[in-house]
This record gives sequence, C-alpha cells and structure tokens, in this order.
Amino acid sequence: MKKSAVFPGSFDPLTLGHTDIIDRAIPLFDKIIIAIGTNSSKQYMFTLKQRKAFIEKTYENVPNVVVDTYNGLTIDYCNKIGSQYILRGLRNPADFEFEKAIAQTNRKMSKIETVFLLTSADTSYISSSIVRDILINKGDVSMFVPKVVTEG
Ligand code: ADP
Repeated sequence: MKKSAVFPGSFDPLTLGHTDIIDRAIPLFDKIIIAIGTNSSKQYMFTLKQRKAFIEKTYENVPNVVVDTYNGLTIDYCNKIGSQYILRGLRNPADFEFEKAIAQTNRKMSKIETVFLLTSADTSYISSSIVRDILINKGDVSMFVPKVVTEG
C-alpha cells in the first residue's frame, strides 16, 4: 500500500522551518499532501491563493509533494483522500504539549497516526508569526523563508 502523509498548517507564510520538515519527510512517504486549513475565524496576512502559490512554486519540481486546501477536521480530510498519516513538526515543549493532545484526540477518533519530526537545530526558532511581525515592520525575512516568499 502506498503511504501518504498530510502536513496540515496555516503556512502564513511558508518558512524554512516548514520546508525542513517537508524535505526530511519526502523519503519517508510515497506522497506528501501539504494541506492548508481554511479557518474562517482566523485572520491571515497572506491570502489562501498566495499561501498555496508559495508552496506550489517551492515544490514545482517534486511530483510527490502536492498542495491542497481543506476545511473542517484534519482527520475527516485524511479519510476523504485516503491518507493514513498526519505529519507535524515539533520545535519546543509548548509544541509537544499542544500536539500531544491533538494527536491523542485524533487517534481516539480515527485510526490515523500522527508522525512527528523534530525540528533541525538551525531552523527550530523560525515561526510564521515572527516572520509576519518582521514583515509588518518592514524588516528583511529572506533568511527565514524560501525565495518565492520574498519575491512574491
Ligand atoms: P498551525 O497553525 O497548524 O500550527 P503552521 O503553519 O504554523 O500551522 O505550522 C504547521 C506545522 O509546521 C506544525 O506542525 C508546526 O509545528 C510546523 N513548524 C512550523 N515551524 C517549524 C519549525 N521551525 N521547525 C519545525 N516545524 C515547524
């Protein structure tokens, strides 16, 4: 059976922290679906179209990485597309506590396993929210995000 993983997130915007996790997951799965969750109560800096385009451009030459959008529960989306795994990155103890509760809840509600990759030492401090703060204040984020984000 082909193994696919859903990497859910806001990706507002895509950072080198996200690409580190995606790049390291590529050899582990036959296909990775980067799934942008659409939460109507959340305010985003980048539009859904922009966030999707950043990921599509970054992975345009990698056929087993695809981008999709979804709303509702991540496990429902996984079941809909027939994916058995959720992929998440862990940066720190706060991520762990938060992710643990979600992963255990998802396991209780479904058979879907969450696979965690530990952040790399050189990207562990990168977060989309800090990148957004820098952008709001007209700072340079080029060392934290893929080229397509600063060019777009
Ligand atoms: P969410 O709103 O779902 O947390 P994000 O786009 O912020 O969406 O994050 C998506 C995933 O990427 C999460 O699993 C998060 O832990 C992971 N991630 C974000 N930044 C990093 C990083 N610097 N290193 C490792 N994982 C990261």
